[in-house]
Amino acid sequence: MTHAPAVPVAIDPPYCGCVDCITGYSVPLDQAVPAQLAALLNGTMANRLNSHTDLCLDLTCAVSRGSVPVIRSARVSYHNGGDMDDRLSWDLSPADLGANWQGSA
Ligand SMILES: [Zn+2]
Repeated sequence: MTHAPAVPVAIDPPYCGCVDCITGYSVPLDQAVPAQLAALLNGTMANRLNSHTDLCLDLTCAVSRGSVPVIRSARVSYHNGGDMDDRLSWDLSPADLGANWQGSA
């Protein structure tokens, strides 16, 4: 039996209803919040998504000639083109992205 921590430590496939999701050890992708998506991308939350799951990260950067482009917005999206034609997306904030956010300094 899995001991439930204070916060989820793993992301499971969307609409997962396993015991870990019920106890809060993990969170199904469809219920994840932006900070959890950022944690998945930077490796601090465990990835328990199914193989061949595509997550798309769109970054919008402000570019000034001669300087490092500054990230203005970041969106993670998921699209399961199967029978459900399921689409999910999350807008990540500078706080979500942490050190990877060029414009946060
Ligand atoms: Zn689960």
